[in-house]
Formats: sequence, C-alpha cells, structure tokens
Amino acid sequence: MNARPKKSFGQHFLHEKRYIERIVSAIAPKDGDTLVEIGPGEGALTLPLLAAAHRLTAIELDTDLIPALGERAAPIGDLRIVHADVLKVDFAALARELGASRLRIAGNLPYYISSPILFHCVEHAESIQDMHFMLQKEVVDRMAADPGSKVYGRLSVMLQLACRVVPLLDVPPGAFRPPPKVDSSVVRLVPLAPEERHDAAPDDVHAVVKAAFAQRRKTLSNALRQLLDADSIRGAGIDPGARAETLTPGDFVRLAKALPAQAA
Ligand code: SAM
Repeated sequence: MNARPKKSFGQHFLHEKRYIERIVSAIAPKDGDTLVEIGPGEGALTLPLLAAAHRLTAIELDTDLIPALGERAAPIGDLRIVHADVLKVDFAALARELGASRLRIAGNLPYYISSPILFHCVEHAESIQDMHFMLQKEVVDRMAADPGSKVYGRLSVMLQLACRVVPLLDVPPGAFRPPPKVDSSVVRLVPLAPEERHDAAPDDVHAVVKAAFAQRRKTLSNALRQLLDADSIRGAGIDPGARAETLTPGDFVRLAKALPAQAA
C-alpha cells in the first residue's frame, strides 16, 4: 500500500519501524482501551495499535486511503474508519457512542492544522483520558516550555492550564515518506483532573494571555493597559513591571480573576 502522499492533506507517512515501535510502546495500548486515531493514513500506527487494543476508531479525511486501510485491518481487529475532518468531530458524542467514559487519542498529526487540532481536543478534555501526538518538534518545545524560556508563550500557558505536557521522543525527517522539512517530536498530553483545573472564566484567561504575549517585551502594566491597571495587577500578587514570559500559568489565572466584571 504505497499511495502517493498528498501535500494538501499534510501526508507524511511513518515508515521506520523502530520509531513506530517506540511510539506504540509509549502509548501502551491495552485490550479494553477506547482508542481513537486522528489521520491513520496507510496504517503505520493503526495496525500495531489495533493488534494490541483489538478495537480502534480512526478519523481520516482522505477517502482514497480508506478502502486499503480497511482491508489491511480486517484480519487484525475491529477497525472503524470515520470519514471526517477531525475538527468537526465531537469527542464527547463519540465517547458516548463508543460506550466509553473517556477516549485515548493518538495521531501523527497533519502539521498544517496541528494547533487547531490541539485546541479542539483540549476543548473536549473531559472526554479524553490521554493524547499522544506527533508534532513539529518546535511546537512540542513551545508546548512544554517553562517560564523564562525563549519559547515560552501563549501555547505553553494555554496547554499547561489544561493538560500535563510530557515530551517523549524526537523523530528525524528520514523516518517519514516524504520527509518533512522539520524535526518532529511525540508528546503525551494528560488532561488535568477536575480538582487541578483553574476556576477562572476561559475567555478572561484567553484575553489576558493573548494581550500579555502580544507585546512580550513590554512590562505587564503596558501590555495589559486595556484590561487591568497597575494596582489591579499588584492586587493579584504580580509585579506590574514584570514581563509575560516570567509568569507561571497560575499567575495568568490570577490576573484573569482580577479583570473587572463585564457589564451585562
Ligand atoms: N498516521 C499515518 C502515519 O503515521 O503514517 C499518517 C500521518 S499523516 C502526517 C496525517 C494524516 O492525517 C493523513 O492520513 C491525512 O490524510 C490525515 N488528515 C489530514 N487532515 C485531516 C483532517 N482534517 N481530519 C482527519 N484526518 C486528516
């Protein structure tokens, strides 16, 4: 099964066995897991995951790949292929349909829409047990960055407020057909338990984080001028002279809670 990879679908098929094995062993699929794969392609990850879990739902946008994948999977296990754009899939409804309380999601993601897919999954965090994604290494570095790092920014804060972010392994371009222009990494995301999640309004957190990093070289009192005055920033326990890149995700939650209530 060697389909011509389509650039428009972000297709880079994994072919190096040792990386496929390392990814599957990091996912550690077991019988009884409700596994969902985003973008199965030719099945490099699908078939070994299916062999271990016996049942898997795969979401693929490219119709041309579906018949051959179905044929290869038939002797291995129960593969259900959903022809859809993953951004339109309601994971809460899918979990109910599959009779699962929470899904285990995996995928070597199409890089052209990797951030929208990440945020789509994070929005459904309550229906997800964990996620294992192959992404551009640069994106994984940003997701996992700590305050003070050059690459710490909006993506780091928004993701870390929703999930535990665990980078697992780097994968070189040569492991794919065709090789992408960038290095890749596999990351594990585990949604935070309800008691670990913050209780600020999501739109407020989003507004503060967006404004703070839009002008990351400015002090907070300058960058947040439209949202909060220096006294309110100080009242949240944060130095108005600090820069966004030095704040922890929890600091942003405190700033969001200090925003004046919206007039109804
Ligand atoms: N999992 C395969 C592998 O590792 O070899 C293929 C990975 S390839 C990087 C990305 C896959 O996502 C392709 O099969 C592509 O057709 C599929 N895809 C692209 N956009 C998609 C979307 N919006 N929804 C679902 N699948 C999509």
